[in-house]
Amino acid sequence: MQEILNAIQAGASGDEIAALAIPESYRAAYVSRSETGMWEGVESADKDPRRSLHVGEVATPELAPDEVYVAVMASAINFNTVWTSIFEPLPTFGFLDRLGRESVWGARHARDEHIVGSDAAGVVVRVGSAVRNWKPGDKVTVHCNHIDDQDPSAHDDSMLAANQRIWGFETNFGGLADLALVKANQLMPKPAHLSWEEAACNALCNSTSYRMIVSPHAGDLRQGEAVLIWGATGGIGGYAVQYVLNGGGIPVGVVSSPERAQLLRDMGCEHVIDRREAGYRFWKDEHTQDESEWRRLGKDIRGLIGRDVDTVFEHPGRQTFGASVFAAARGGKIVTCAATSGYMIEYDNRHLWMKLKRIVSSHFANYKEAWAANQLVREGRIQPLLSRVFPLEQTGDAALAVHRNEIEGKAGVLCLAPEEGLGIDDPEFREKVGEDRITLFRRTAS
Ligand code: NAP
Repeated sequence: MQEILNAIQAGASGDEIAALAIPESYRAAYVSRSETGMWEGVESADKDPRRSLHVGEVATPELAPDEVYVAVMASAINFNTVWTSIFEPLPTFGFLDRLGRESVWGARHARDEHIVGSDAAGVVVRVGSAVRNWKPGDKVTVHCNHIDDQDPSAHDDSMLAANQRIWGFETNFGGLADLALVKANQLMPKPAHLSWEEAACNALCNSTSYRMIVSPHAGDLRQGEAVLIWGATGGIGGYAVQYVLNGGGIPVGVVSSPERAQLLRDMGCEHVIDRREAGYRFWKDEHTQDESEWRRLGKDIRGLIGRDVDTVFEHPGRQTFGASVFAAARGGKIVTCAATSGYMIEYDNRHLWMKLKRIVSSHFANYKEAWAANQLVREGRIQPLLSRVFPLEQTGDAALAVHRNEIEGKAGVLCLAPEEGLGIDDPEFREKVGEDRITLFRRTAS
């Protein structure tokens, strides 16, 4: 890998990069099948990803005709790597085994090590024989929608594909590594004005929020619509705020500290709720919700914007879902993509049907949506939310910080990139977009 890195840093041509040998093994972050029972009797909050996420050499898989190897300069932590590392709700080896039974190429994935990571920025170093649009030397970001393009169900909205998977979570050979194996239809051009780590942190969360807020498949935001955004300085929440502002909507951002409230204001989000300061207790106890607390949230929102929100950007799940259904306006919608605090959801259905609200499910993004979201980053209209950067060796520490809700925006991970700040090819455009905007989360995050 060192030779590949040297070539990239020396600005080698595509032909020169194509001539380099692909190593038989590479450094990667992975969990082990033999350790899936390690958390027995341990509470979720006490599970420490540093114990389950290992960084070491793994064997390089063979390249299929529709795939490329990417030399990964940087990656990022997503919550799915937290789920993988705590083996919740299920160990991910079941996903790999199912993929392994699908085809000869699928069988490569069913290993005893799951190489994790669903984001990457890097350089294409080899392309399979069926790859047309990409070549060695191309600088890319990688989105995580892994689909089987020979399956008819993948050809309307590919998120509806019967065997749609998230790369690096439901497949092997993810981005938290020096080398990644991805399908050619996961590739997107790297934003030239961003460093490797700034470019690597966007694809998963940015594309998810694009679909949840902008795409007709889910959010379909209209000018003037108000959107309640939980976790508004978190990974997906921080992109959601940007999309609502860009689209002429009114974000009402919820966060849990004065520092995060300030960060949100610095992003241009005028209406902010500090949920800790407000002290909402939507659940009286483990089994009973408190409607008066939902009403208090609704009143707080009306106090800020003078009306109810048209959409709720929902992902905390069990803790907030009842309140989210209540808080949406008559005819409004609750767009949900996750359930961090628990997936067995409870809400009062009377508030849904009597006021003609809708619950809309959303999951990642199809290639077209991911491409559009990446294009907005390339054009400087959406900013990366990088706040902290870890070396690959400390992937476990980075995942622990995300697990403990200690990270604003995104935690980046340096893979092959030897230091931060490399990979900026268009400094003029960077200046035009504005260093302050690009690095807002780096400078003000706690
Ligand atoms: P993140 O960066 O950790 O941000 C989550 C934010 O949610 C935190 O900043 C926190 O903000 C807020 N939060 C956490 N627990 C909460 C609670 N009980 N009540 C209210 N707010 C709470 O995570 P993320 O990357 O944004 O991901 C969020 C969830 O979405 C995860 O479960 C992830 O797996 C899922 N996800 C799904 C998809 C998909 O395609 N389906 C894609 C990306 C992410 P404050 O503490 O400041 O309020």
